[in-house]
Amino acid sequence: MKLTVLGCSGTYAAPGNPCSGYLVQSGETSVLMDAGPGTLGELQRHIRLEDLDAVLISHSHPDHWVEVPVLRNALRYVLDRSGVPLFTTAETVKLISAACHEQVSPTFEMSTVSDGSEFTVGPLTVRCSRTDHPPETLAFCVDDGERRLAYSADTGPGWSFEEFGGPPIDLGICEATFREGSPQALDSAASGGGVHMTACEAGAMARRSGVGSLIVTHLLPGADPLAAAEEASAAYGAEATVASSGLVREI
Ligand SMILES: [Zn+2]
Repeated sequence: MKLTVLGCSGTYAAPGNPCSGYLVQSGETSVLMDAGPGTLGELQRHIRLEDLDAVLISHSHPDHWVEVPVLRNALRYVLDRSGVPLFTTAETVKLISAACHEQVSPTFEMSTVSDGSEFTVGPLTVRCSRTDHPPETLAFCVDDGERRLAYSADTGPGWSFEEFGGPPIDLGICEATFREGSPQALDSAASGGGVHMTACEAGAMARRSGVGSLIVTHLLPGADPLAAAEEASAAYGAEATVASSGLVREI
């Protein structure tokens, strides 16, 4: 399996770094996992849109899905494609439908998924797990029969990769929006937490879950990636990588 980070900027896009979007490939199968603003252009650096097999959207926050109506423009009006499977939460289905003027079909074949949902895309099995984040948010575990990759989407520290059960996860992509002790982290904790993780919480969660290797992502624009890497690595007990647009990882 191959992961390509298209964009990973938390909350809003940064110069040269779109919001959340990850390309997962296995053999001839290509899946787009989240489609935040700016990810459509980056996606085309790596695949032709004709070759996109499915879209997974984790939740209804706009930094994770607003490229979908623009992707529909490309598929419907230029490439004449239809029936592209799109899996997401009930609330996100409604928002995407509204943004496409209720004309999602026939371009996308939308499926509502929720905690515990399992489906296949070609040779890949995808499992969903509800995270610790205010709107219904789904983490995804993608399994090609040999290797497992898991993406936390957005989550507070009340969720972990352990929720997927099964064999160990080879590659974990975990959000690490905040730095430990930062004003945003303190504000989040003071209001009850459960929105995002710090790099330290992400590293500790990955360590507890026995994740083989860790990429931390969804840092706020302007955050210091080296400091986040140090914080996550210390808690993980091994070197964690900070995501960046264009990062490729084979597992
Ligand atoms: Zn969110």
